[in-house]
Amino acid sequence: MPRAPVDDRGVPYQPVALAELALHADSQADRDSARRFQRQLKRVRDEVSRRWSFRRMLVTMPVALGVAAVAFPALLWLFGAWTGGIPSMLAVLVTFGLMQWIDRSISLRRLRHGVGATIVAHGYCARCAYSLKGLETHPDGAIVCPECGAAWIAARITRPHWTGVQPPLAETPPLLPRLLFIRPPLVNDARGVLVRRMDSWLLSVWPDRRQALGSERVRRLRRALRSRGRWLRWTLAAFLAAAMIWVLTLLTHLEGVEDPAKWLAIIGIGAGTLLLGFASLAAVLGELNIPESHFERTATAEGLCAACAGELGPADTDGYRVCIACGATWRAEHPPDQPAPPGA
Ligand SMILES: [Zn+2]
Ligand SMILES: [Zn+2]
Repeated sequence: MPRAPVDDRGVPYQPVALAELALHADSQADRDSARRFQRQLKRVRDEVSRRWSFRRMLVTMPVALGVAAVAFPALLWLFGAWTGGIPSMLAVLVTFGLMQWIDRSISLRRLRHGVGATIVAHGYCARCAYSLKGLETHPDGAIVCPECGAAWIAARITRPHWTGVQPPLAETPPLLPRLLFIRPPLVNDARGVLVRRMDSWLLSVWPDRRQALGSERVRRLRRALRSRGRWLRWTLAAFLAAAMIWVLTLLTHLEGVEDPAKWLAIIGIGAGTLLLGFASLAAVLGELNIPESHFERTATAEGLCAACAGELGPADTDGYRVCIACGATWRAEHPPDQPAPPGA
């Protein structure tokens, strides 16, 4: 089980319940912005916890098998049959429900660190939701929450709630990348804040931002981002395209087949061709085999934010650079491969 998150003086804490984010608001405007942030954070948390994860499945599958190993013999003993009827249906439902519940609790536990860091980035105490606005910074760089005593490095506050409307937290990517089978995931920035990383085609980057970068720079970034894993993508696409052509050649074997069966075969071949064609296209255009850390490394090498492609500010004393546009934090010098997507 992952350890509880700690504040910046090493004291463990539980992140405040999202419903309590507006708890200490002292004006209507404060309350509104806290509620807005609460909705965004809830959406972000739900998205991360819903994303399928192999590591979570390693826990949920044995549990489900264990429950089934007890439930079905019990059914056999109680009802004389272990399949059929309402009891076994109930057993299946309970097992699936349990799997879902365990999966969600694991992902929420893993997300605590990211949720806490995101709350502090917005200028709230992650432990009690008290506003960190205008508080004194101690010599060690920390702000101490007057309400609960938790300590937070002041430099964490990169999206303060008191500066007006913030760019949305990890907005949903536009339709185009999703049509191209690209769904950039939510990742943790260098200080743990949940952000959506850019996609390798820069389609999730706002058009005016792409314009500001200039077509030359955009092309260079795309090439650098997509340089990794290219061979695997093209090989897979070639295999799928070959399979598609093979399915198409089946059409020549339909001589002498009687009519209803012939039409069924033609429809089947057509559907198979389309499916394999799409899969081949998806393999070429998708992001298969591009490591998560490659995005951060490539963007920061260009002095750009790996989330929104905005310009990064100068490096601070801890070696962090903050995005001027969205407040995401990135390491100025990137260490060797250490991908850490949330909830993975
Ligand atoms: Zn507090
Ligand atoms: Zn940014």
